Amino acid sequence: MQELLHNVFRARLHSKTHNKDVPLKCFFEPTLKCNLKCVHCYIPKSASKTARMPKNKILRLLDKIASCGCLWLIFTGGEPFLRKDFPDIYLYAKKKGFLIVIFSNATLVTPQLAKMLTVWRPLFVEVSIYGCTRKTYEAVTKVAGSFENFKKGLGLLISHKIPLSLKMPLLTINKHELGMARKWAKELDVPFRFDAAIYPGLDGSLVPFSYRLKPKEVVNAEMQFKEKLEYFKNKISVKKSRLEKEYIFDECGAGQNAFCVCADGSMSMCMLARVPGSSLAGGRIKEAWLKLQKISDTILEDNKKCLNCKIRYFCDYCLGAAAFKQPQASGANLVEAMKSHYCETAALRANYFRAKNNVIRRKNNQTV
Ligand code: SF4
Ligand code: SF4
Repeated sequence: MQELLHNVFRARLHSKTHNKDVPLKCFFEPTLKCNLKCVHCYIPKSASKTARMPKNKILRLLDKIASCGCLWLIFTGGEPFLRKDFPDIYLYAKKKGFLIVIFSNATLVTPQLAKMLTVWRPLFVEVSIYGCTRKTYEAVTKVAGSFENFKKGLGLLISHKIPLSLKMPLLTINKHELGMARKWAKELDVPFRFDAAIYPGLDGSLVPFSYRLKPKEVVNAEMQFKEKLEYFKNKISVKKSRLEKEYIFDECGAGQNAFCVCADGSMSMCMLARVPGSSLAGGRIKEAWLKLQKISDTILEDNKKCLNCKIRYFCDYCLGAAAFKQPQASGANLVEAMKSHYCETAALRANYFRAKNNVIRRKNNQTV
């Protein structure tokens, strides 16, 4: 039997199912609650009052999701491990055959949980790392003792050999520890990436933006990472080789082959674009999916201008950001605020690559 690397398999399946109405990837929020209070979090405090789906309802939803051909299931939140019944939900999903990823802050990992994940392995657990020192970590999470719990949880996942990756949300208050985090990950032999994307609160709060790096800082950080440079080179070649129309936006697949089941049981394009939510309770998932696709087509149409943009291969603007539900009470135009940040960042990246290519060209001419 031929063996395929997971990312090769994923790329092949994505290209074979593109535009074929198959929702391949589901982000699932078992809860929006979290034990941390991160300063940049887009989930409003009031979300802890959001109705919590009973376990049975979640299991029935997992049946529906599996029946429509979905393969990847990403448990996100809030903090999924906060639910006491998470092991039951997880095992049910495992037995359904999903390829499972868990997004977690790792602070609630117990020996029992780690043991279960050893027997029933996820594809991987993506652990957020907010800093490498207690001071920085807890300046982000605002919870005393959380750094110790994070280290304990991470240690348990590592000692149980659970496939892991570390992701650092890069902020004004932890950027000085980026190099340290990368070194730490290397020592642990765990894949590492950082992400500077910050979103407004779902309630329209602008507070997260006050922790967002300036476009110049984002690009400066990226250009120090060989992996990031490779990522952009790859992205450019992959995107250029595909049909132009298909990839106005970045490739997370929101509304195209990915969707989110929100903690209240509604379906949306992604965790950010909660509009329009179609309730899945009693409804057919396929119908909700088709409805969602129509809306995502309208958003693509509305953003046609980006199609002619020469630097869009450097741009992270995504369907989720474009479809962000603007809370009525919010004064600022949040979608525009996100878009102009993305435009500026993309322009700086393009300049960097242009300058780099010019140097290479000049060097080659000299050699000739
Ligand atoms: S760990 Fe994640 S969900 Fe929890 S507060 Fe921090 S960013 Fe929000
Ligand atoms: S850089 Fe701006 S105009 Fe160009 S694709 Fe990105 S968001 Fe659209």
